[in-house]
Formats: sequence, C-alpha cells, structure tokens
Amino acid sequence: MLLSDVVLLDYKRCPRRPFLDFYGDATQQQTQREFVVKLREENQQQILDVLGNTTYHEPQAPLEDWQARGRETLELMEKGVNCILNGILWQTGVAGWNLPFSETITFIANPALLVKTSGHSIFGDWEYQAVSIKLGRRPKPEYKLVAAFQAKLLSLIQDSSLSNPRVVIRSHREYQVKINPWMANMENTLVEVLTMLRSRQEPEVFISRQRCNLCQWQNFCYDIAKQQQHLSLLPGVTPSRYEQLQQLGIVSLEELAQSDTSVLAKLMEKDVAEGLKQQAIATLHETPLLKSTPPRTILETIPSASREIYFDIEAEPERNLDYLLGVLIVDYSENKEQFYPLVAETPEQEAEVWEQFLKLVEENPEAPIFHYSQYEVDTIKRLSSLYQTSKQQEKSVLKRLVDLHDCVTKSLIFPTENYSLKKIAQWLGFQWRESDFSGQQCVYWYDQWLKTRDRALLDTIIRYNEDDCRATYHLKTWLVNFLASSEVTN
Ligand code: SF4
Repeated sequence: MLLSDVVLLDYKRCPRRPFLDFYGDATQQQTQREFVVKLREENQQQILDVLGNTTYHEPQAPLEDWQARGRETLELMEKGVNCILNGILWQTGVAGWNLPFSETITFIANPALLVKTSGHSIFGDWEYQAVSIKLGRRPKPEYKLVAAFQAKLLSLIQDSSLSNPRVVIRSHREYQVKINPWMANMENTLVEVLTMLRSRQEPEVFISRQRCNLCQWQNFCYDIAKQQQHLSLLPGVTPSRYEQLQQLGIVSLEELAQSDTSVLAKLMEKDVAEGLKQQAIATLHETPLLKSTPPRTILETIPSASREIYFDIEAEPERNLDYLLGVLIVDYSENKEQFYPLVAETPEQEAEVWEQFLKLVEENPEAPIFHYSQYEVDTIKRLSSLYQTSKQQEKSVLKRLVDLHDCVTKSLIFPTENYSLKKIAQWLGFQWRESDFSGQQCVYWYDQWLKTRDRALLDTIIRYNEDDCRATYHLKTWLVNFLASSEVTN
C-alpha cells in the first residue's frame, strides 16, 4: 500500500476522499478544476519567492515517477547540496513507525524544500530539514501534521534524530512545528487512515462547499447526498452540528423538520436549533418561510426609485485587484436597462475604472445601489482609501448601498443549500448564460486573459458579471413582491 503526505492531508480534510481515491470508480472523477490548477501554480510561485536568491537543485524525473525522482533526491542529499526543491522521499516498510500493522507499506512525501543543516546522518556531517510551504493564511493543524510526517520519514531515510520541521505560510511567515505533540497526533491519524483503508469501510458523504469545491469527487458525492437528502446540504449543518443531531437520533430531513426544538437546544443554542428546524421545514416543503421580523420592517429597508443601480464586482484576490465593476442601470420610467462593464483590462487600469464608477453613480444621484454581499461595501472603502477619494464622496456612495443578502438572511429562510446569489436566484428561476461558471473560475479566466490577451475570456467574464447584476435585480423584484404580499396576508 502507498501512503503519502497527500493521503494524510486529504484524510484530515475529508476521510471519504482518500477512500474514493483508493477504491472509487475513477470514471466518476471530474477533471481537475481550473482554479485548483491555478492554486497549484500559485503555490509553486510562492515556493520560488521563498527561495529568492538561494541556489537550489531540483530532481528531473517527473513527480508521477516518484521512485526515480526519489532516487535523484537521495543522490542530491548524498552529494550534500544546500537546498533541494520538490524532492521526493520514499521508503518501504513499517520499521521505525509506531504502527500496529505488519503489511508492506511504502511511505512517500514531497516536501517543498529540503534544506541542508549541520548534524549527523548517513551522508556525513550534515542532515536535511523539511520545509512545507503552503498558500494558507495561517498554520493549519493539517499542515503541521503533514510536516510531522515528512520529518519522520526524513529522519528514517537519513538516519538522523527528529528535528522540528518548518512550515511557511502565504505571508512568508515561518513556524517551527513542535515535533513531539505532532508526532503522536500524526501517528494516531496514520492508524485511522490505515484502519479505514484496510477495512474498506466507506466513510459517509458530507458536503462542505469549501472543501468539496476543491475535490474531483464533488459531482459524484453531491449526487449521492441529493439522493439521500443528506443533512449536510442544509445551510447551518456543520460537521459538529451534524454529530450533535446524530447523537439525538436525527438523521433525516423529516426527523429534523418534526423535531422538538427544546430537545435540540440541549446540545446547541436555542436560536441555532430553531433555525435548523425551520431550514429543514422550508427545504422539505420547497417553500421560503418568513422569519419573525415583520415584512413591513424589511420592506422599509428596500428603497424603490424610478432609476435603480444593480452592482457586482469581479476581483482577483492574489493581486488584491478589483478588475470589473459591473453596473446595471434600470430605468423604470423609460422602461430601459443598460449594463456598464467597467473593466480594468490591465491591473494598472483599476484606478481609471474606479473613477468611471464614481462618475456613473454621480450621474444617477437618486438611484439606490443594490448589491448582494458585504464585499461591495468593503471594496468601495478599499478603493476610496487607495485612490484618495474624498471622504464626502465615499460616504455618499456608501449611504446609497443596499445589501440584499442582508435583507434575505434577516427576513427569510430559503429552501436552498446555501444563501449565495447563485443558489437563491436560480431557485427563483433566473438562469445564468454561463451556467457552469463560478466566481472562482472568473479569477482563473482573468489570469489567463492577462497572459494570453484572448478577448473571448474577458467577454465571458463580463457576461457572467452582467448576469450577476441581472440576478440581483431579479431577486430584488421578487423580494419586494413577496414581502408586500406577505404583508397583506399577515
Ligand atoms: S466531494 Fe466532498 S465529500 Fe466527496 S470526497 Fe470530496 S471532499 Fe469528501
């Protein structure tokens, strides 16, 4: 059996993933998403940035040919080179590992860097230290676990004492991992992984948008979760709340919808319990439910005017860039709709686009500006500060913003899997022209546009952004009608 640092990392994120990688039907896997490929590329660039002017050696065999690459890595270590980039460490056999298994296991690790330090090893008066370099913004537990695994394998290969491995994160901040507590943690996890793989016990599906979005089994698992009406598809059901529900014997949508909130409240806060139950009822009956805030109170926070602006932004977080400010102006009196894609075709044009945006909103001074998330508010503040917009002008734009996400989440429970604009507007019947597209994909396409100048890429992003603005408009119209009719029936 092959057991790698990747298996360990995946297991910590989702135990089902390594199981499917080992035993699943490979034809059910999707191709790697483009934004995941981009993340890999960013990580490689990050490693090169950390290296700076340091001289390094890199094995030449492809990563997939781990045996050959591992032999090259070993040769470089024997020569005593100062730094090895993307080396492979591998060793067969469980000797030295604290594992209650006797079968043949090959351990494989791919530390970003192997850095030579003074010490004693089979090579001579030197040894190597493993350095993990990760895109995360904080030193997550799974990074430390993988670092402990790499350190252990390295110490067995070079016959040296265990030393604290290093983890470098996005900010280039470096952490030393305290090897002793993490070694015990890592060995326990190895036992769990091996037990699961040997028993072939398939872990239950649990859909978590953040981690499943990065996984090639996403569609496969999602279909299963849908068939099972799995509770993880309900907003608010986190892994820990799911465990609590199981403790109470609640495993289905019906059971949650019919549950007694005073029983749920024994294990979670009362308002959380009430929220989960209402969410289950809305989903079961496929209908939106009103929360306790009177519809009139919410309606009063949604202005109406003869001209309205619908606003959505596309951003490139890696460059800290807001490259597309999409503005849809709806003129009810003239029955006209006009979309303005204010796009920075190069990152340097962001200031120009910001000025165009300010001019456009000033030309329509009475129009409220509808958007769907806190991001637009934060961006207006960021761009105002960056391009020294007057405080008065910044305030006057901020004053006109109306966050429909806020209105929706305060007033309604939707029968959707989350409260993203996409899910809500689709449930209301709105269709995006780029149906398989996502904001994350736009990030990838914009990066490709900058590299290739292929206009079709930018046009696709603009179409997607226009549909985001139109979906916001669709939602606002529906929301006002729904709240007004609820006001009447109440
Ligand atoms: S799609 Fe989600 S549940 Fe399925 S294996 Fe991947 S991370 Fe796990």
